[in-house]
Amino acid sequence: MSLVELTQIRKSFGPVEVLKDVSLKVEKGEIVAIIGRSGSGKSTLLRCINGLEQVQAGRILVAGIDVTARNADLNVLRERAGMVFQSYNLFPHLDVERNVTLALKLVKKLDREAAGKIARDVVARVGLAEKLHAYPDELSGGQQQRVAIARSLAMQPALMLFDEITSALDPELVGEVLRVLEGVAKEGMTMMLVTHEMNFAKNVADRVIFMHEGRIHEDGPAREILQTPRTAELGSFLSAVL
Ligand code: ADP
Ligand code: MG
Repeated sequence: MSLVELTQIRKSFGPVEVLKDVSLKVEKGEIVAIIGRSGSGKSTLLRCINGLEQVQAGRILVAGIDVTARNADLNVLRERAGMVFQSYNLFPHLDVERNVTLALKLVKKLDREAAGKIARDVVARVGLAEKLHAYPDELSGGQQQRVAIARSLAMQPALMLFDEITSALDPELVGEVLRVLEGVAKEGMTMMLVTHEMNFAKNVADRVIFMHEGRIHEDGPAREILQTPRTAELGSFLSAVL
């Protein structure tokens, strides 16, 4: 079974259908970049996978959980599918370590020592070992986003979802966050990431999905999709962003 399986999902907001018959499988270890114009349904797709939005039709299976079942355990789902957003949403009154350990203590019920050990490990993996006791307002946007990634990694998810996590950053801070993502990818994490960083998609992703008007318009190996678009819609999107 694939790690993520979407079968003919439909999602509407009121009368507006924003995901139209989307089917998709993601295998363990795959790095999937999702690209497309603003409003094409990229965020909604990730939010459905993570149970933040409910679909009107279709079936979503994530790491063995039927997300679309009426009694789906969304807490377990979100432990298995970590999500990082454009806004980092760190708790301003907690230092880096406590931002990372909070869910480990509350959700995973780890004691202080066990949670602290994991926090030190993941904070080091995002290159911020020396900032363990810094507060969010003492960190740059790029560093805060790296803490948000560490916080998600700490839960040892089966899958990580990233929604334009570098879009709000000053250009000089984008690279450090992409390097952290690349490191996470190399460790074998399964990742689905919405991004406008086409070089990153080309070099790090195994596969690129192009969303257009609520549908998967193209889906294939990253270099193939980005270098030789098959449809006019992808061609014009790429010439606008590259
Ligand atoms: P993308 O991430 O590709 O920019 P989104 O998934 O955010 O696109 O949005 C797809 C469409 O759904 C857009 O037309 C957007 O306005 C609409 N939409 C997204 N979220 C909501 C919401 N909570 N309520 C109403 N419309 C929404
Ligand atoms: Mg979006």
